[in-house]
Amino acid sequence: MMEPLDHFLQAATMAPSHHPTEDLLLAYAAGGLDEAMSLVVATHLALCPRCRAEVTRLEAVGGALIDDLAPAALGAGTLEAVLARLDEPSHDPIPLPVARRRPAGPAPVLPEPLRSYVGGDIDRIGWSRTIPGLEEADIVCGDRRRSRVRMMRIRGGMGMPRHTHHGNELTLVLAGGFADETGHFLRGDLAVTDPSIDHRPVADDDGDCICLAVTDAPLRLTGRFLRLLNPFLRL
Ligand SMILES: [Zn+2]
Repeated sequence: MMEPLDHFLQAATMAPSHHPTEDLLLAYAAGGLDEAMSLVVATHLALCPRCRAEVTRLEAVGGALIDDLAPAALGAGTLEAVLARLDEPSHDPIPLPVARRRPAGPAPVLPEPLRSYVGGDIDRIGWSRTIPGLEEADIVCGDRRRSRVRMMRIRGGMGMPRHTHHGNELTLVLAGGFADETGHFLRGDLAVTDPSIDHRPVADDDGDCICLAVTDAPLRLTGRFLRLLNPFLRL
């Protein structure tokens, strides 16, 4: 049985063990993610040397591929394709976080680029209670009609209602941890859920679990009574 202090020290020093998929990293490296998805991947990268190295490698591969494309390869239809892309909603890709010298004092809970979106560290977040044991705060990022970005604070030991998803959800742990049917997630770990996953996350009991979550469609609660709460939860 791990002592709470050991658990804390392990969480504070360990590299993440749950990473974005290769497809997600590739889409990030190619600038193909919307701002919300880009924010959660970039914040994971700030905490994950392994994925930072992988994105650097993918960007180098992408650059080499573009250099190899001879102008003759751009055949008929290219202009139309470019013009069609101009009609798509655009966003400025969030750049890869750069390693900075750690300032004196305790390390912030929120790494960049998330900290800039919040306007400071965790104490700047205006939480509002959603259900007992769960507080949330929306973060303005990207197109809200397409995706919702929010911070979640789950009281230690608290279980969330069982739910599934219409779309995809990325949940990045920033403090504490949680476990569900798919694994145990600590600081820096990214949980990726899709409509096939029906899960009931439970926060570790050694402190609040603070996460950044991006959902690209509303969640659907699957518990018998919880379905009634659906319209009120805004989940
Ligand atoms: Zn990673």
